[in-house]
Amino acid sequence: WERRFGRGETGLLQRLHDAVAHSGRVDREDLRTIAEEFRCPVAAVTGAAGFYADFAGAHGTRHVRICVGTSCFVSAGDHTAPLAEAALGVAPGRISADGSVSLAGAYCLGYCYASPTALDGHTPITGPDLGERLLSAEHPAAAPAVPYHVASRDAVVLAGLTEAERSWQVWPRVVTDGSPAAVRAEVALAGLRGRGGAEFPVVDKWQAAANGRSPRFVVANGDEGDPGSFCDRLLMESDPDRVLEGLALAGFATGASRGVVFVRSEYPVALARMQAAVEAARAAGHLGRGVHGSSFDFDVDVVQGAGSYVAGEETALLHALQGLRGSVRPRPPYPTESGLIGHPTAVNNVETLAAVPWVLRHGGTSYAELGNRIETGTKLVCLSQRFRHPGVYEVEFGVPLRYIVETLGGGLKPGYRLRALQVGGPLGGFLSPDDLDVPLLATALAEAGVALGHGSLVAIDDQITARELLRHVWSFAAAESCGACTPCRVGTRRGRELAARFPTSSEQILAQHEKLLDVMSTGSLCAFGRGVPAAVRSLLRVYRDELTSGDA
Ligand code: SF4
Repeated sequence: WERRFGRGETGLLQRLHDAVAHSGRVDREDLRTIAEEFRCPVAAVTGAAGFYADFAGAHGTRHVRICVGTSCFVSAGDHTAPLAEAALGVAPGRISADGSVSLAGAYCLGYCYASPTALDGHTPITGPDLGERLLSAEHPAAAPAVPYHVASRDAVVLAGLTEAERSWQVWPRVVTDGSPAAVRAEVALAGLRGRGGAEFPVVDKWQAAANGRSPRFVVANGDEGDPGSFCDRLLMESDPDRVLEGLALAGFATGASRGVVFVRSEYPVALARMQAAVEAARAAGHLGRGVHGSSFDFDVDVVQGAGSYVAGEETALLHALQGLRGSVRPRPPYPTESGLIGHPTAVNNVETLAAVPWVLRHGGTSYAELGNRIETGTKLVCLSQRFRHPGVYEVEFGVPLRYIVETLGGGLKPGYRLRALQVGGPLGGFLSPDDLDVPLLATALAEAGVALGHGSLVAIDDQITARELLRHVWSFAAAESCGACTPCRVGTRRGRELAARFPTSSEQILAQHEKLLDVMSTGSLCAFGRGVPAAVRSLLRVYRDELTSGDA
């Protein structure tokens, strides 16, 4: 482990980050040095460096990332990048002649409740006066903290914020007196399912990993890339111990002695807090050899991502952890059979893991009493800036979307009217305001033609045109396709071209667009290429009149 992941392939992304931090770019000498260090071909390092946004182009002394995600798009149209360009005097993707400043676009920085947003180095800047604040280079007002509200009968995921539910209470008892089978049984009783979007039963994943050969690994997926979603950032920043305790319990349940927390580079504060939490947990004896006097060894690495949406998919994430291009690979074999260095690996979303300590403390039956009979427990939903009360809300599964939008969110800010609700990010889809009586359940939402995804709800107001929105969706898809399969790699670019032809009444263009959606949804390798067409179809449903009448 130490050779492969300590200074090994997990460390390769970090070495590329170090090169950028040192000289502002990854140059040929860096590629050669890193390849020698990691005993791999220069081509492999070049391939990885060329894949991730963080290593593309040169970084200035001051490197600014401007958010082009959906909430920022809604709050400022396509004006954020030109605004930043005007303020900094450098175009997106470029560096100034003297190397003092560079600008890059990023699909979501996780401040969707306070859009528009930029990251100036590690400093978030939010709000409508973004341009002026970038211009001043001094940012006296800190970005507002994530508003968090518990709307369920019982606090589950973030219960650790209270003294009674503080973290690391369950772990010592479980690791000394419990058994992996008992932990799995409790999680099975809870009916806990993955919160990253796939809704896969957690216990099935853990059992499959536990059945495999040693060594085994567990991974906390903190690569929250869905534009509109910021609940994982909240968890990692405000309660990193709870995430770690959940990961340790997952390690115990699967017999894994090593865990990894993968945090996207767009979340520098979350990264630092997770690293600090690991150090503190080691010092407190929660991690290490013979944890709490037991025979169980467990330790955790925190790894920084490098700017790729698709790297949040579990097979792509495992590639990223091994210093490879973050491309998706076909399954089977599943990561629970062949994951990190070919060994069984259970990858769970941060929000999923954060619920596990509560399940072990209060019992799976108590957890299953929350929510719906099939989709148990609570879900964090993220409401975007256009809502009167944006923020993260913890709600039970099954509550109507209309309750979340109108009662919790308070509807839209004065002066705006809801035209569509984007559910579950770019792969989720759009609902009309008339269709909000659907309950917050993955099954019910799927019947309504959208996917729950990671629980983001982005309000689209009536000042955004259907044409702009369609272009935004296709542009995101073209920018973030990993390129591993042709239907998605070529299809997303073709979709972006066709979107420029809308609105249209041309039967030919509409037929071409429909054919493209068919090819992508049937021929793409992963949920990205299959999800984009479903989301575009939902957009066409909600905005049919605007998109199919008249011509661009
Ligand atoms: Fe990559 Fe798109 Fe194919 Fe998924 S569908 S593997 S994101 S190219």
